[in-house]
Amino acid sequence: MPTSKLNIQATSGKQYIYNFSEGAAEGDATMKNLLGGKGANLAEMANIGLPVPPGFTISTEVCTYYYDHNKTFPSGLFEHDIPDALAKLETALGKRFGDSANPLLLSVRSGARASMPGMMDTILNLGLNDTTVEALAEQSGNPRFAWDCYRRFVQMYGDVVLELRPADSRQPDPFEKILDEHKKALGVTLDTELETEDLKKIVMAYKEAIKTETGKEFPEDPRQQLQGAIGAVFGSWNNERAVVYRKLNHIPGYWGTACNVQAMVFGNMGPTSGTGVAFTRDAATGENIFYGEYLMNAQGEDVVAGTRTPLTISQLEEENPGIYRQLDGIRSRLEQHYRDMMDIEFTIENGKLFMLQCRVGKRTGLAAIRIAYDMCMEGLIDEKEALLRIEPQQLNQLLRPVFDQHEKQSAIDSGRLLATGLNAGPGAATGRICFSAQKAEEVRKKGDTAILVRIETSPEDIKGMSLAEGILTERGGMTSHAALVARQMGKVCVAGCGALDIDYSRGELRIEGKNTLLKEGDYISIDGTTGEVLQGEISTRNSEVIEVLADKTLKPEEAPTWNIFDHIMRWSDKYRKLKIRTNADQPDQADLAVSFGAEGIGLCRTEHMFFGGERIDAMREMILADDIEGRKKALDKLLPYQRDDFYGLFRAMGSRPVTIRLLDPPLHEFLPHGDKEIEALAAKFGKPYHDVRNRIDNLHEFNPMLGLRGCRLGILHPEIPAMQVRAIIEAACRLKKEGHDIIPEIMVPLVGTVRELEITSEIIHRVARRVMAEQESGVTYLVGTMIEVPRAAMTSGDIAKAADFFSYGTNDLTQMGLGMSRDDSGQFLPSYQNYDIYQHNPFESLDQDGIGRLIQLSAKEGRTVKPELKLGICGEHGGDPDTIAFCHSLSLNYVSCSPFRIPIARLAAARAALMA
Ligand code: PEP
Ligand code: MG
Repeated sequence: MPTSKLNIQATSGKQYIYNFSEGAAEGDATMKNLLGGKGANLAEMANIGLPVPPGFTISTEVCTYYYDHNKTFPSGLFEHDIPDALAKLETALGKRFGDSANPLLLSVRSGARASMPGMMDTILNLGLNDTTVEALAEQSGNPRFAWDCYRRFVQMYGDVVLELRPADSRQPDPFEKILDEHKKALGVTLDTELETEDLKKIVMAYKEAIKTETGKEFPEDPRQQLQGAIGAVFGSWNNERAVVYRKLNHIPGYWGTACNVQAMVFGNMGPTSGTGVAFTRDAATGENIFYGEYLMNAQGEDVVAGTRTPLTISQLEEENPGIYRQLDGIRSRLEQHYRDMMDIEFTIENGKLFMLQCRVGKRTGLAAIRIAYDMCMEGLIDEKEALLRIEPQQLNQLLRPVFDQHEKQSAIDSGRLLATGLNAGPGAATGRICFSAQKAEEVRKKGDTAILVRIETSPEDIKGMSLAEGILTERGGMTSHAALVARQMGKVCVAGCGALDIDYSRGELRIEGKNTLLKEGDYISIDGTTGEVLQGEISTRNSEVIEVLADKTLKPEEAPTWNIFDHIMRWSDKYRKLKIRTNADQPDQADLAVSFGAEGIGLCRTEHMFFGGERIDAMREMILADDIEGRKKALDKLLPYQRDDFYGLFRAMGSRPVTIRLLDPPLHEFLPHGDKEIEALAAKFGKPYHDVRNRIDNLHEFNPMLGLRGCRLGILHPEIPAMQVRAIIEAACRLKKEGHDIIPEIMVPLVGTVRELEITSEIIHRVARRVMAEQESGVTYLVGTMIEVPRAAMTSGDIAKAADFFSYGTNDLTQMGLGMSRDDSGQFLPSYQNYDIYQHNPFESLDQDGIGRLIQLSAKEGRTVKPELKLGICGEHGGDPDTIAFCHSLSLNYVSCSPFRIPIARLAAARAALMA
């Protein structure tokens, strides 16, 4: 059918409706904003000649219009546009909407730009009424099928449009209740055991219930049904669960949903009909196998809802090789066409295959990485695209803990393996059993971990799922709601564990065939990689990548996942412009960071070096000394420790740059505060308790974060930086003598004015010169500053004159820039975020509009004065992908983050460069 013939214009002149049928469509895959993901891909599949039932998409602009105009529709939509589109459908199929002999039946589905699985409404079998149901019975020769469709339709319509539904998720569904009562009365357990006459009675009971409970009449007129269904679909864009889901996934409300109206095809017409969902590759592991599930004699929602446990696609190959081959052909066609892993929905109607949906498939982090790598190796995509396909945070899933195998084995040996379900979301999770989102919230508030245990999950459960460490369900397949959403959230998930017997009302979980009774709040462990469910707590252990890189307990050649990880890292390194450093203070941390790919240390917090063993005593002696002599004596004791620390760190980093920050925190952080500890300390130093107590009290500050700390300490007590600089230069001289040229970068904290940096620099240079003379050696070193006080950012031009480098301390810069305590903001930030005041926690992801502008201004001024000025970031934000992209846009030289975030930072930096 040529496209021009399909073109329908609304009376307003705006095209609101886009038609599609096999071989021709008005839309295509690029039109997601207008047609939603489902509509755009239906059009695309139609365009490439796949068997798509014909239909039309009502665009997202109608949704926007609906909400902008007090929930009304554009004029002409129901008067002309939809009737015209219906007429075309009727002609194409030779059926008529509402016809008593050959009725056209429709599905009405939502579909936004981004997929929001199960969050919005869908209605199937629309067009059925007391008359057309008889026609369908006649046509199909299967009255039971016709009445089953009608029963489902009245149920869906009653729920979605007429709003007869339970008040909350703990109440039974009114329609399911009627169905169960009838089944019980008839002595049957399965829906399929219900006869036509039974179904007729159920339909009547449904209609009665609708009338008594809602006061509304179920509409017999198909056009009224259609209007109601379209209204409900657009209305469902703003239902509670859709709003929560959008918030969690940063989907803006103004996008709106499209509405797809399509000719029905029936998977429940009899034994040669069926329906299924599949992924063109395994969505949990990424393996290149056709992965899916289907049910014969069922409608689509049966598979996704998880109320019947489906068969696997490999069984389809055995049972219906013809359909399987056709489907497998479509699988390759779609992968070649979209060059990605696709998620498809299909229906077989009387032996004929139809495609109902395709979209880029959601996947675990593990699968995303494997698919990107494999597709690159298969030549479907190039390295750059492979990198763009992986969200940096997904690398976490490669670094994720697994159970301690010994503990797990002994749990199994002692009979604690309760059951095995489907391995729907990999990783290991342990926590307390929670049967509801509320309980999960309670458990989390107490600082414990939660496992959400549900018979099956529904979109109402998403909040609980996001709070839980893992999700365990009794029913449902790999593509059930629980499995899909858990994977998307990157949660550990075991689904469809049929041996569980959950009793919400008693708060109990029993296991079929076992004498085990678990109560809500008891510990349970789930292995989302194997599907095992175990009683009690089991400690978790490092992943394969960690075993190769950090623990060195696994050889690289025996670690396929590590091999993929390694490739992704190498490709990232090829394209990124930013260098990646680490924040580390100990040689073992530095080793780990180097194995993760660190190119230097961006921040060594020297205060962390003063806590171990005898050092803390020397440190306390220094702080409590009455005069400079006493302080120097204590510092002399600290010197060898510091020198060894720096020597170890320099050695671990080889020729890589190491930034050492001079002492930063307020001194009283090193002192005990309890009476007993103070007494012990006084005894150790042979001083009276009261003297020590007084000294500690004198050091008390009301606002220590803004008190005597950072460079202020060194300016008031120059002997402290003097000792640290001596240790740094002596360590460097020693390494130089051993043949290693080290260029230490000495960093001054909390500088607000250039004078502070100048005074501290004089101390640094004086000591460095003295040490080099003593050692008869020369060491090149740099002196730079943290930029973490807003005044320093605003006067960076001046400060740059005295600095070799700047390192943005975004923790303090955020704290001072926002006037928000980094230690206390946890109390109010979560509620604050509910008001959309900050989109993200500003201590996790840089507030680019505010703090980012300070950095931008500082970088520009600094480089204007000194073009060779080295710029980096070492606050916690240095491991956040969005902040990394921002740092790339400012052409900083490096980001510095904790060792475990280095892989994420490498990929994020590459993606930033590729997307620039
Ligand atoms: C910072 O303020 O960002 C920083 C790195 O220093 P610290 O967290 O040690 O205050
Ligand atoms: Mg700081």
